[in-house]
Amino acid sequence: MAGAGGGLHFDTLAAHAGAPSDTVGGAHPTVQPIVTASSFWYESADTLDRVLGGEEPGYVYARYANPTVRALEEAVAALEQAAGAVAFASGMAAIQAAVGLFAQRPGDTLFVSEDCYGGTYTLVASILAEQGLRVRFVDLFDLPQLEFRLAAEHPKALLFEVLTNPLQRVVDATAVVEAAHRAGAGVVIDATFSPPPIFQGLRLGADVVVHSATKYLGGHGDVTAGVAACGDPARAAELHTAGKLTGAVLGPHEAYLVLRGIRTLGLRVERQSATALSLAHALCADARIERVYYPGLPGDPGHAGAGRLFRGGAAGGVLSFAIRGADRERVLRTLERFRLVRPAPTLGDCLSLVLYPVIASHRGLTPEQRAQRGIHDNILRFSAGLEDPRDLLADLDRALG
Ligand code: PLP
Repeated sequence: MAGAGGGLHFDTLAAHAGAPSDTVGGAHPTVQPIVTASSFWYESADTLDRVLGGEEPGYVYARYANPTVRALEEAVAALEQAAGAVAFASGMAAIQAAVGLFAQRPGDTLFVSEDCYGGTYTLVASILAEQGLRVRFVDLFDLPQLEFRLAAEHPKALLFEVLTNPLQRVVDATAVVEAAHRAGAGVVIDATFSPPPIFQGLRLGADVVVHSATKYLGGHGDVTAGVAACGDPARAAELHTAGKLTGAVLGPHEAYLVLRGIRTLGLRVERQSATALSLAHALCADARIERVYYPGLPGDPGHAGAGRLFRGGAAGGVLSFAIRGADRERVLRTLERFRLVRPAPTLGDCLSLVLYPVIASHRGLTPEQRAQRGIHDNILRFSAGLEDPRDLLADLDRALG
């Protein structure tokens, strides 16, 4: 990413972005302090007045702005090459706020990819639909049909993920963003599975990119957080107001953890992508495996798309595989045989994690809906951590029995 953020490369930016600007006793701390104060005061009442009135930058109340959270937001803005970024209490809060920039009035139409994260599906289909949004699920792999529906239904926004969960299909994000914009829709990309070392949605033309920072950005399995980055500073300001008024803001301790995670983001994602690729190759050659879903594999239907969209063709740390002839019972017993890999429902951690979509991410879908999406009962999703791939392979071998 030469040229990003004033000519710096990604790993340099990740190490430095959001560096503290305030001094402590006249000295410059090298890392951002965790500022826990919920309110701030000034010697001068005139200054307080101006800060409260928004005429002068400053801190008055932690829900409005906090230095540790601000540092994280600056770092995310730098990594996404955004005009501004806003941190939220979770990925879900970031998604809700980002969609609200475009579609929030009763009758507004919102297009959502039918392959979206289960929590997003439930949020839009229940709460947002009940508030009056016309929520419509769309198939992003049928571009002519998408274009037809965009022209016919005039959505205010389109929300999608570039790598679908759990099958890791690669959406032609460039074409989808262009089609949505031609129809006048705002575009929100949830890039949780495709973090900025490999993908930058704003450069592609998306209006907002959101992340569950609980995943790769935090990266250590110890924080719940969300971020939204915008190309347009006015939208970033609007998002900030939304966070301030709904109260879905991130706390300073959490912001610190995500900021610390960001320092090693490039290294982690590079290693996790390499591990995922080597595991994918090994699983392809294993007779116990029916199919491997990973766009890093040359034979995968998403391989060419990943090559176009993702830096260096790296396809991220998540792969899925179908165990030959396994039913639900056998998959559950497989989960119990892992000794190293944890059967925990998240991704992007230092620890490798395995998830059974049928009982976790896609539990809310009927068996027919899952079958329609190709999410069969014998599929497991695997998120590569930072362990030695040889130990992971040995654990997979043990679990497959
Ligand atoms: N988006 C995606 C793609 C996810 O996988 C998740 C959670 O798994 C979320 C959003 C929600 O993030 P959070 O749990 O931080 O609210």
